[in-house]
Amino acid sequence: MKPIQGYGWALGAPGEPLQRNEFTIDSVAAGEACVQVAGCGLCHTDLSFFAGSVQTRAPLPLILGHEISGTVVAAGAGHADLVGTDVVVPAVMPCGDCDLCQSGRSNICRAQKFPGNDFDGGFATHVVSPARFLCPVPGERGGLALSDFSVIADAVTTPYQALLRSGLRDGDLAVVVGVGGVGTYMVQHARNAGARVVAIDVDAHKLEHARSLGAAFTVDARGKAAGEVKKAVRGLVKEHKLPGDRWKVFETSGTAAGQEAAFALLSFAGALVVVGFTMDTVSLRLSNVMAFDADVLGNWACKPEHYPAVVRDVIAGRVNVRDNIENHPLDTINEVVPLALAHKIEKRVVFIP
Ligand SMILES: [Zn+2]
Ligand SMILES: [Zn+2]
Repeated sequence: MKPIQGYGWALGAPGEPLQRNEFTIDSVAAGEACVQVAGCGLCHTDLSFFAGSVQTRAPLPLILGHEISGTVVAAGAGHADLVGTDVVVPAVMPCGDCDLCQSGRSNICRAQKFPGNDFDGGFATHVVSPARFLCPVPGERGGLALSDFSVIADAVTTPYQALLRSGLRDGDLAVVVGVGGVGTYMVQHARNAGARVVAIDVDAHKLEHARSLGAAFTVDARGKAAGEVKKAVRGLVKEHKLPGDRWKVFETSGTAAGQEAAFALLSFAGALVVVGFTMDTVSLRLSNVMAFDADVLGNWACKPEHYPAVVRDVIAGRVNVRDNIENHPLDTINEVVPLALAHKIEKRVVFIP
């Protein structure tokens, strides 16, 4: 192959500006593909790596970024047919062969490869990634740019798998606790599956946004204890004749207060899916799970096999990504990251090389 000249912005040490690292790709190994990046989303996990509160699995310096879309420009043995294909690079790429993979739990495969964590990621012109699980994006894509599909990896697919795991059925009541990035997609997936959705947040602006994306009801939890949040939901159920049990509750805030509220919303035969993450601990009466005959589940990322359905939903306009994204040139990354760390950017940042 003709050598490919590229560069990426690498993290050398937490808290320090990223370094522009040039590289040459002159071969692609069997089973791998070189993707020319169209866009790469900036996720909370990246911010934790930048700040040093979470460490990458591969040693620094490392190019971060795991929400990647682009075009395959070179491929190793076994995947030559992929060259020229537009793809989303899944955030979690399992081995496909281990016991977890074979038992249908590939998203938690212990040999998984995570771009921008196990190997150089998408804040770059090119990424060399395992080829097996790349998700093709069709040419007809509802007027969206290929870069818009980058956020599918992680922000859109993770809540999609959470939805599937919850067992939600048409007509159910879904409660989404925390409607920031991931939560806005949780609302849309639940609505698409036929649920009446209650969005809960402490930010009135985010609640308004959730309503525009399909939440039928909202509860402003600011200043409310978990019990009061439950009372507010019960009030909505009574007033609007919504299902009184089997609630599907999704914790997408990744905060202790959100987790307490979500647990308080457990109902008879209900389900709680923990999608957000926090290092904080909460005190819960676990016996409620027994008394309600309820399910409590965790959800880590999303299996690559679910990606095509999400791509179709995005193209069909059933999931709105465009209004949740703002594009920035890749080379402004050292100006944009501090703004994101200071919570001065509301939308999902996508870096465009
Ligand atoms: Zn992420
Ligand atoms: Zn595996």
